[in-house]
Amino acid sequence: MNKANEIQRVFILGMDGAGNFIQNTPTPIIDAFLEKGAVTYNAQAQSPTISAECWGSVLHGVVPEKHQLNNEVAANTLYPSDSAYPSVFQVVREAWPEAKLAAFSSWTPINYGIIEDGLGIHKESKPDAELVGAIEAYLEQNTDVKLLFMQLDEPDGAGHTYGYGPDSPEYLNAITKNDELFGLVLASIEKRGLLEDSLVILLTDHGGGGSHAYSHGSDHPMDKNVFWGCVGPGVAAGTSLPELFIVDTAAVVLNALGLQQPDSWDAKVPEGLFSEISIT
Ligand SMILES: [Zn+2]
Repeated sequence: MNKANEIQRVFILGMDGAGNFIQNTPTPIIDAFLEKGAVTYNAQAQSPTISAECWGSVLHGVVPEKHQLNNEVAANTLYPSDSAYPSVFQVVREAWPEAKLAAFSSWTPINYGIIEDGLGIHKESKPDAELVGAIEAYLEQNTDVKLLFMQLDEPDGAGHTYGYGPDSPEYLNAITKNDELFGLVLASIEKRGLLEDSLVILLTDHGGGGSHAYSHGSDHPMDKNVFWGCVGPGVAAGTSLPELFIVDTAAVVLNALGLQQPDSWDAKVPEGLFSEISIT
């Protein structure tokens, strides 16, 4: 039996627009947590390196050309419930009609236009710090949650205002502040006794400062390279992930939950991610 079969639930904890700049500013929570599992600083955002396109791929398992999401579409249009490219939430909902599912996004278009409506998902959109408080309150009442997604937004906001990259102290500070908020969420997960049998994925959707100091969207490594890591049963500490696109997140989620992914998806589980085999 693969140890990954011991995973009871998945947490996807994201921050927006942080690229791989966690290497340039203190992020003690993320660093210490990911030492217990798999991590890469060279995962690839999807192209174009823009929020709706990238979170759309994280959640729907296909490249942007297929899910057709962009920031304007996500802000104004509900994602079709009969799409050939359902989100991880829809696949999990179809497998488990009663499962508790939750999406907390600071950037409202994720909850409005990227994750399907009408699936009975607990959705909240609030500024970063309040959002983390809402997650704590939710977990207190819902320790049986099956899939929880979080997107914090302040690094991207700081990047657009002050510039992205290693030379922007305001941007780096926003990443460090989000690291503290990740710490609060991880502490709530642990406090409820949920850490040991969960897969926890930490990621960002894209970087910035590549072709433009105050923006993103290009294939420049500053926009394209992102951190991605996960910790949970079956993931050995120190696992390296040589080739990973953020679209693969969706495959990892379903695989961890023991569900088949749709044939239509581009996502694939990175080779060697779930490596520990137990004999029980
Ligand atoms: Zn973004």
